[in-house]
Amino acid sequence: MTTIFVYAPALAHTKLHHPENSARIAHLLPQLEQLNLLMDLKALRAVPATWKQLRRIHTEGLIKYVEAVCRRGGGLLDQGDTYATADSFDLASLAVGGTCTAVDEIMTGRAHNGFALVRPPGHHAETDNVSGFCLFNNVAAAARQAQLEHGVERVLVLDFDVHHGNGTQDIFFEDDTVLFVSMHLFAPYFYPGIGGLHEIGTRQGRGFTVNVPFPPGVGDDGYLKALKEYVRPIVARFDPELMLVSVGFDAHWRDPLAMAGLSLKGYGLMAQTLIKMAGEMCNGRILFVLEGGYQHDVLAYGIANVFNALLGRDSIHDPFGPMPEPEQDVSELLEQLKNRNLPN
Ligand SMILES: [Zn+2]
Repeated sequence: MTTIFVYAPALAHTKLHHPENSARIAHLLPQLEQLNLLMDLKALRAVPATWKQLRRIHTEGLIKYVEAVCRRGGGLLDQGDTYATADSFDLASLAVGGTCTAVDEIMTGRAHNGFALVRPPGHHAETDNVSGFCLFNNVAAAARQAQLEHGVERVLVLDFDVHHGNGTQDIFFEDDTVLFVSMHLFAPYFYPGIGGLHEIGTRQGRGFTVNVPFPPGVGDDGYLKALKEYVRPIVARFDPELMLVSVGFDAHWRDPLAMAGLSLKGYGLMAQTLIKMAGEMCNGRILFVLEGGYQHDVLAYGIANVFNALLGRDSIHDPFGPMPEPEQDVSELLEQLKNRNLPN
């Protein structure tokens, strides 16, 4: 069994005092080495995305806009806090290209599973808009790569970054060949403010967008219960040929940007469950793609735990333990979700 990783830390895409800065994963490889993981993984070199790969998911206007801002030295790309430096266009292209290369390895059988450790993150980038620190949508490009280069008909994109994957939802909202499932915190004034349970896709994509909007402080049990009891049967009915996982470690209780209450153990168990699902449903073909996560130790341990799970090991590092506060019960939310009449 071969587990691959592609590492594109985008060191020159960074901004002082910004949470999404290059220090997030700049020191990741020595940390993985210390946890005795690197020797068991196969490293892939990231290559820049082609114009065609970018155009499958974004408008020409958006791509050219990002390029133009970078070519004149960088700056803010939106009204929020999505920045670019002079190098960001090239580095965001590398993140997309690296993620697509990982898909190639898995779909050709050269690798079993893997993890794209890329920056900038992608899941907030919409068809025609950058947003939420995201320039180009890495995971969406990966789904299209599998479909258009490898003949895959059905791809699952499961997102459990603490923020709703509005960009990925936007790109696949009318599409019945990509099932998009987002498990995220949903609360007043919490970014990006969409991802409610009634957003289910439209036209032929109706029923192929599934949102699980959690209350604050949901914690390990709620996440695992929602995944096993609600999401899993929907994924099984969809019968994916490849599973892509947008994983952000900002749902951890120590993360400075949110308050969803997952622990490292909870993350590890989520990863193990998803990998088991991939084993049962699609020959083990699963690729994790890094999104957010702003507490650097949590990020490093969380990534290491995903690698352990990909390698088939049960061990989970959790030096921080569970959230100190009590967890919120999600039974009522799951009942509400199950009682909706979805077409699939
Ligand atoms: Zn996030």
